[in-house]
Amino acid sequence: MNAQTKSSQERLSPLEFRKLIISEVAKALGEAVISAIEFEGPEIAVYVKNPKYIIENENKVKELAKKLRKRVVVRSDPKVRKSKEYTIKFILEHAPEDAGVDPSLMFFDEVLGEVRVLADKPGKLMGKGRKFATLVLAETGWRLVAQRRPPPPLPVEDVLTVFAHPVAQAPERKKALREIGERIFRETITNTRYIRVIGLGSFGEVGRSAILVDTGESRVLLDAGVAPESLGPQAFPYLDAPEFRVDELDAVVISHAHLDHVGILPLLFKYGFRGPVYMTLPTRDIAYILLKDYIDLAKREGVEPPYTLKEINTMLTRIITVPYGVVTDVAPNIKLTFYNAGHILGSAVVHLHIGQGLHNILYTGDIKYYRRKNDRALRLLPPAHDKFQRVETLILESTYGATEQPPRDKAEEDLIRLANEVYKRKGKLLIPVLAVGRAQDILAVLVNAIEKKSLPEDIPIYVDGMVRKITSIYTAYPELLSRPIAEAILKEGKNPFVAENVIWVNDSSKRMEVIESNEPCIILSTSGMMQGGPVIEYFKYLAEDPKNALVFVSYQAPGTLGRRILEGEREIEIAEDSKLRILKVKMEVVGIDGFSGHASRSELLFYLKNLEPKPRTIILNHGEPNALASLALSIKNRWESLGFQSAPNVIVPENLESIRLYPRTFKLHMI
Ligand SMILES: [Zn+2]
Ligand SMILES: [Zn+2]
Repeated sequence: MNAQTKSSQERLSPLEFRKLIISEVAKALGEAVISAIEFEGPEIAVYVKNPKYIIENENKVKELAKKLRKRVVVRSDPKVRKSKEYTIKFILEHAPEDAGVDPSLMFFDEVLGEVRVLADKPGKLMGKGRKFATLVLAETGWRLVAQRRPPPPLPVEDVLTVFAHPVAQAPERKKALREIGERIFRETITNTRYIRVIGLGSFGEVGRSAILVDTGESRVLLDAGVAPESLGPQAFPYLDAPEFRVDELDAVVISHAHLDHVGILPLLFKYGFRGPVYMTLPTRDIAYILLKDYIDLAKREGVEPPYTLKEINTMLTRIITVPYGVVTDVAPNIKLTFYNAGHILGSAVVHLHIGQGLHNILYTGDIKYYRRKNDRALRLLPPAHDKFQRVETLILESTYGATEQPPRDKAEEDLIRLANEVYKRKGKLLIPVLAVGRAQDILAVLVNAIEKKSLPEDIPIYVDGMVRKITSIYTAYPELLSRPIAEAILKEGKNPFVAENVIWVNDSSKRMEVIESNEPCIILSTSGMMQGGPVIEYFKYLAEDPKNALVFVSYQAPGTLGRRILEGEREIEIAEDSKLRILKVKMEVVGIDGFSGHASRSELLFYLKNLEPKPRTIILNHGEPNALASLALSIKNRWESLGFQSAPNVIVPENLESIRLYPRTFKLHMI
């Protein structure tokens, strides 16, 4: 479609637009027996009575999507779908034997016409060139979707809840998708003349990320996080800002599943938001677990949780998952694309294309990037995506804007050396870890060291807390992990998180067994900053024996128990049987930097150097004031060596400041 028809398409009334879509679909897929065409969320869904035709003409669907510049999906008419019993039987009888399918792990999504199957080898099940999936669709009318079942002893339940959830909510989700579709493809009132960016949180600070992008015509919220230090409303972003109204919001876009980016999302639903939330599939799975845990955490700490399971469930009906690299309409004048951010599983750099070529915003969320080759050692995820078609404004995280991190390979060496020393003196090594990201990173490092015989073969590694649930989700998406790890899983059936010595602890009696045993061991447990969780139980018993060691592998926020111990506090008051006891810390305390999931200062600058094209405006957020100031100064001084043609406009705004982004040229400004 050329530029002229593109802009005229934006000005069509919804009725005219619908007519155009119907005639284009009819033209392109003439021989299919079309029974309905619906706007379902950001997708145009074409229902057909002869699914076989679509399978044989997949290219035509792709071409149509390209021509319309919309996501087009073809579904079978519910009337032609075979019964569930027949479909299960068909799959069981015809699936490749070693695919590992189980009839109790098959779910039917009637809204999408999908049969969702958890299998040991989803690739085998789908078949080469999706051969088996095609066969299932042709024979039963159901589209086969397969996902990896976590290998035992990892639990299947947590992957299952979210995997099967859409099925239970089918009628409500269908209604929601229609409403969302109508809103996305609505008639536009104004042409986009300006764009405003307002930080409701995470500007001038780390935590409670929430950024409002207002184009006059539409409003999108990037992230909806909480601050990590407290559980009350002071941890929420400024939802009472005059520019922010929940009922005017077109969409929420979530960069990744950490609570400082997603923690208050259900609260928006409590306030009446019913629009779509865009995120990647793993972000949805992980966020679901973390948000439920956030409710429990608040209860345990005696704080009224800001929302309940009810709002989390409403939220689930509105989530639209988008894979990396797929362009999706989120408002009449905004297109969204996610790219890998390298930070945690499913984390995304968010690209917004606003107006017809008016402006492009790139929001990094949290990113990891590498400068040295060695830093890639054992990384679970590939580095953040750095090549785009257009970027005028960059919103860049600056967590380590002022700090360098030691090389990754050195950090790994230090950890393994310490583990060996503690083992030799028959002590226990306690590692507090964040459940998402760092836990999997450290686990992979330890498993690898045992394989390479740089750690004793018989050393048990106990893993406690939420880590197990999240690790299950990591194993469900091997294709998103870095190449060597993905290949080991997919080709050799090897799992980087599972080894004979890795023992998953899931109850307090097992925990006591670990504590009371005389054997040396390694214990990984949440929470990462020792703000609660099973790590406290271990610490209570291990702290007073100098044979043991405590090692911090991630950032410890000011005021947390982790930070206090790391900074030298050796007498800790702890509650035990409702009494206070003074714990004397005699175990060795070590901090190892270099495992961070955030780009270090030099990596952030290197990212800017490699970023194409160069933005004209750089907004720095997600950093302490000194980190933001230091990074801003470096960019201002070094823009030439970073490859910029002219000095970029570097801004470090405060929360609630409004930044107006002007269109690219005067001519576009007038359109
Ligand atoms: Zn994060
Ligand atoms: Zn963050």
